[in-house]
Amino acid sequence: MYKINEDYLKLQGSYLFSTIAKKVNAFAQENPDKKVIRLGIGDVTKPLAPAIISALHNAVDEMGNAETFHGYAPDLGYEFLRNAIAKNDYQDRGCKIEPDEIFVSDGAKSDSGNIQEIFAKDNVVAICDPVYPVYLDTNVMAGRTGAFDEAAQNYKGVIYMPCRAENDFVPEMPKENPDIIYLCFPNNPTGAAITKEQLQVWVDYANKIGAVIIYDAAYEAYITEENVPHSIYECEGARTCAIELHSFSKNAGFTGLRLGYTVVPKDLKCNGVMLHSLWARRHGTKYNGAPYIVQKAGEAVYSEEGKKQLKEQVAYYQKNARYIFDHLKSYGYEVYGGVNAPYIWLKAPNNMTSWEFFDYLLEKANVVGTPGSGFGKCGETYFRLTAFGSYENTVEAMERIKTL
Ligand SMILES: *Cc1c(COP(=O)(O)O)cnc(C)c1O
Repeated sequence: MYKINEDYLKLQGSYLFSTIAKKVNAFAQENPDKKVIRLGIGDVTKPLAPAIISALHNAVDEMGNAETFHGYAPDLGYEFLRNAIAKNDYQDRGCKIEPDEIFVSDGAKSDSGNIQEIFAKDNVVAICDPVYPVYLDTNVMAGRTGAFDEAAQNYKGVIYMPCRAENDFVPEMPKENPDIIYLCFPNNPTGAAITKEQLQVWVDYANKIGAVIIYDAAYEAYITEENVPHSIYECEGARTCAIELHSFSKNAGFTGLRLGYTVVPKDLKCNGVMLHSLWARRHGTKYNGAPYIVQKAGEAVYSEEGKKQLKEQVAYYQKNARYIFDHLKSYGYEVYGGVNAPYIWLKAPNNMTSWEFFDYLLEKANVVGTPGSGFGKCGETYFRLTAFGSYENTVEAMERIKTL
């Protein structure tokens, strides 16, 4: 008789977003006259920019013509896109990354989940707490952790790196040496950024202890401050210790279109074996590439027109983020993030738990956010608001919170 992968049974239910939906629906049903404003969403709301739409239309027409039809894409992705990425995201910023070190994919969620496959099962993983749950859950599924410890509220065998106000939500080096370190900056959910000097310390540490850093740069486009790195490869020595994940979701609105990429430098080697070869093999065996049409849309992200339009789009969300940050602060809230990220992370007032504040905010202001405790133990008593709503709703939500 067959057996299931019992590591899946270790997974904790992800009740966060379904619980939120249930509570919001119940409230809306009991209060049909009240307009609920949702600032909990982690999805963009603006439509695709005209330059991207135009590239999509052209690519669709190409697919209908025998001379310009495209079938299976090359394993690593089309060269036109990898060249544009290498130039714009790396070489123009002084980072030495070549087009053949870039693997185009359908997004950073799948890559951040799949990348662990190329590492041995007995590697010790370090994650931030709170965290984007994909890094942790995919390692649980792969059997790289022990069981979930109810009392401690964490998985055995995982190194949790607390990110709290006291350390500006940037983790400290763990006491025990990890093998695989997941970092995401600017961060979801805390909205925190890391300075180049702080990231350099992590790169030096990883090189010294022989660890690999998996660096999620999904929110790179939201950086507004000078000393915050857009890529880990801005740090010296990162080519020998870091893999970087990118997404077109948050900078260009591709959440429904699906496109991302992963960088594996050829200098990244474990006992002489290039991780690049392993990831290339994995990609080639298990994946047949992002659609040609979508890769053409991705190329348009780097056109002059595309860059200009997307800068405006990101600026719209950045304006919402600053609006929330500044207003909550002026109302006396303890508030973080928002400057280099579309997320605002605030401390629930009056010693409320994350869920108590959720209920309070829904009840009194009819505003929906995300309880910080849903992202990990250290997220308890914190709360996440996002900048992905409309400006009008953002302003109205702050007006309502002001009166609490
Ligand atoms: C949204 C997000 C991603 C991007 O996911 P896609 O699959 O590319 O849409 C990756 N990492 C984090 C932390 C995110 O919040």
